[in-house]
Amino acid sequence: MNLVLNNCLMILPGRKSAVGDIVVTNGKIDKILISPEERASSPRGIDLSGAIVMPGIVDAHCHAPMTLLRGVGGGLPLKRWLEEAIFPIEARMTDEDVAAGMTWGAMELLAGGVTCVADMYEHSLAGAAALAETGIKANVCRPGLAFSDGTPKGRLEECIDFVRNFSDPNNRLVADICIHSEYLTNEKFCRALAEANREFTRPLNVHVSETKREHEECIARHGKTPIAYLAETGLLDYGGYAAHCVWCTDDDFKIMADRNVSLVHNPSSNMKLASGFARVCRAAELGVNVALGTDGPASNDNLDMFEEMHLTSLIHKGVLLDPTVLSPWEVIEMATVNGAKALGRYDTGEIAVGKAADLCVVALDKPHLNPCVDAANLIVHSAHASDVAMTIVDGRIVYERSPEQSWIDINHERAEFDFEMSLRRLKIK
Ligand SMILES: [Zn+2]
Repeated sequence: MNLVLNNCLMILPGRKSAVGDIVVTNGKIDKILISPEERASSPRGIDLSGAIVMPGIVDAHCHAPMTLLRGVGGGLPLKRWLEEAIFPIEARMTDEDVAAGMTWGAMELLAGGVTCVADMYEHSLAGAAALAETGIKANVCRPGLAFSDGTPKGRLEECIDFVRNFSDPNNRLVADICIHSEYLTNEKFCRALAEANREFTRPLNVHVSETKREHEECIARHGKTPIAYLAETGLLDYGGYAAHCVWCTDDDFKIMADRNVSLVHNPSSNMKLASGFARVCRAAELGVNVALGTDGPASNDNLDMFEEMHLTSLIHKGVLLDPTVLSPWEVIEMATVNGAKALGRYDTGEIAVGKAADLCVVALDKPHLNPCVDAANLIVHSAHASDVAMTIVDGRIVYERSPEQSWIDINHERAEFDFEMSLRRLKIK
């Protein structure tokens, strides 16, 4: 896929911005032309004067099919929210519902500049097939569950087979191992999955220490924090990405740094469910790679990664009483290159020669985006997902705000029909 983007205000590695041209060849960034001499002979393509081009955003923790559950169970604490509002509807979901919700969620993500997502949900094969259609990159998984009254029949085998048999002809999707959490599994299940993973050597997608209660109950059950327990079962032997980590200790962060386990910060979800504030600055200080995620749209209630960037920047300044923590550049890195690292995708997340052409174009054609004195500050503190004008994955324009030929425009009507059908079938609307 060949593409030329001219006159872009680029967010570049090394925490700098510059105006220039990007030449994409076969889906990769082939040239970045900045000096007047280089640009004099630049090929002509799409004129992006007046737009910021940043690396494609990585949503490192999502449950995209929960677009179907947007607004369900508001105001309940996590345990009651899950057990009384969410699980009963999820129990009725079919492959078709998950596919419809996943497609709808992917459309929201792509329209908000997200080029890669880590998604965890039931009906994983149907969900992955729907994601593959949309053109987004994704780390998918089959979440491990083992309730106190036993493991759902065949679930361990399903989790293992999902990773063993997964393939995507376009190489945009990969499968990771997953357990929902320490509290929704048992030790036997965790050890068996860890043992099987010696064959796959994949990172673990997991929820960790989201609430104080969960963290303390794990210590009461196992004599260890959730991170220490997971490390002991072998599930972190090949790294991972742990969502939330709100109640993690310094020792937990040291284990995470040591085991290449990234912290995925979900500030909207943590505040909506009143879970607390993850100590991301401390985690980073102790060597943990910190990425950002939206979590599911039932606990957020959107998939707007610009909002997550904005909240991340503000919350930690406020909590630590320190305006110097988390510069806009650091926050952008969390939402891009750190997310890519968390998902083991070292070929994306930066505008650099040789990297995949996964890009997000933010148009500055609105009053709230002017003047553009500092591009990084504008992205983190002023922009919204709705300001994204174009999303590019592997050099292909997957979303474009106005014209006709983007994937979303072509498929919108069909996706809306499926989504409405599912909402009615699940008696949500
Ligand atoms: Zn989650």
